Amino acid sequence: MLGSNPLRPQEVGDGQTLWVQEVFYTLQGEGPFSGEPAVFVRLAGCNLSCYWCDTEFESSTWRPDLSELMQTIAEVKTPFCNLVVLTGGEPFRQNIRPLIDGLLSLSNSMRVQIETNGTLWIDLPESDRLHIVCSPKTANLNQKLVAKVDSYKYLVAAGQVDASDGLPTTSTQQAGEPARIARPPAESCAQVFVMPIDARDSETNEANIQATVSSALTHGYRLTLQTHKLTGIR
Ligand code: SF4
Repeated sequence: MLGSNPLRPQEVGDGQTLWVQEVFYTLQGEGPFSGEPAVFVRLAGCNLSCYWCDTEFESSTWRPDLSELMQTIAEVKTPFCNLVVLTGGEPFRQNIRPLIDGLLSLSNSMRVQIETNGTLWIDLPESDRLHIVCSPKTANLNQKLVAKVDSYKYLVAAGQVDASDGLPTTSTQQAGEPARIARPPAESCAQVFVMPIDARDSETNEANIQATVSSALTHGYRLTLQTHKLTGIR
C-alpha cells in the first residue's frame, strides 16, 4: 500500500457479510501472541493510509457470508490452533461482532485477537478470550476502544522518537510530518510493545532496530520483531 490505498469509511452493517481480503493459517509474527499458530482473517479496506504500510488489503472482491467465512476458517485451522487474529486493513471498519461471537462459541479455549489502529469502535462481547492490540496511528484514540485495549504496539523509526517516553514523534500519514501519535492513557495497565519499522534497506533497518531496543530498555516497553518476515512466512 505504502500510503496509496483509498480511505474507506466505516460501514457497519449487520455483520452477516464481510469484505475479506484473505484467510490463512500461519504463526502470529508479532505482539503478545508472537510465535503462536493462528488463523489470520484479513478484513478488507482501511480508514487510514500510512506511508509505510506494506499490507495488501484492497485487491479482493470476496464478500462471504458468515457461514462461508466460518467454514473457510475451519478448513485452514488445525485442531490444536486456538487463536484467530482479526486484522486488516482496519477490522472495526465493519461489524465484526457476529464473527467474534461465532468464533468464541467454537470452544472454551478459542481466543480472538483484534489488531486495530485505534480510531473506530463497534460494540464487543465481554470475554477474557478477546484480546485487543491497538497500534495507534493518529493523535486521538476512540475512547470506547481505550477501555478495552489489552496491548499497545508502536512502530519505531530512528530519529523519530520522543526522548521523554521513547514513542514516535512523527505522523504515520505523511513521512517526516511532526505529529504526536496517541499514547496509552496514564491509568492504562495495558502492556506496551515497540517494534522497528521495516524500511527495506539494511542500514535504516539496523538504525530502527537500535532505536527500538533503546526505547524498550529506557522506558520498560517490550520489544517485538516482525518474526514472520525474519522467518520468511506470511
Ligand atoms: S492503519 Fe494499519 S492497515 Fe491501515 S494503512 Fe495504517 S498500517 Fe496499513
